[in-house]
Amino acid sequence: MSHHDFVVVVGCGRLGALIANRLSGDGSSVVVVDVSEEAFSALAPDFSGFKVTGDAAELGVLRRAHVEKAEVLMAVTGDDNVNLFVSQAALKTFGVSRPIARVGDVRRQEFYTHHGIEAFSPTAIVGEQLLTRIGEGSPS
Ligand code: AMP
Repeated sequence: MSHHDFVVVVGCGRLGALIANRLSGDGSSVVVVDVSEEAFSALAPDFSGFKVTGDAAELGVLRRAHVEKAEVLMAVTGDDNVNLFVSQAALKTFGVSRPIARVGDVRRQEFYTHHGIEAFSPTAIVGEQLLTRIGEGSPS
């Protein structure tokens, strides 16, 4: 994984915690935001980043996370609307060059791209990987 100076990860569920732990381990500065403080228990004991508790759909919470200093923001809550709002705010209000959003609904991916947001669907990625695996005839 390439090094990024400062990354904000919004949503500390399984996916967000995995990303935040890896980035922190690789030496990036990370701020992780979650509405639930309990979510931070998924972070590694040696996680070196900052944790911000609050609803990321509030601009004040994003300000507390210093989103304006981020080069990359990943919005990976389970809520498409929150991820869209956060990514748009990152791009338009805070000048983040690479907002990346998790989407549940694959059909919305093109809409995000059109608005300058990199979108990915975990379902689509896993689906593709499984199909590839079948195609490659992996051992049963
Ligand atoms: P999951 O949907 O299990 O992958 O987890 C998503 C994470 O995002 C959970 O830890 C939620 O608490 C968090 N989350 C959901 N909505 C928000 C929000 N509006 N602001 C910040 N974190 C959120």
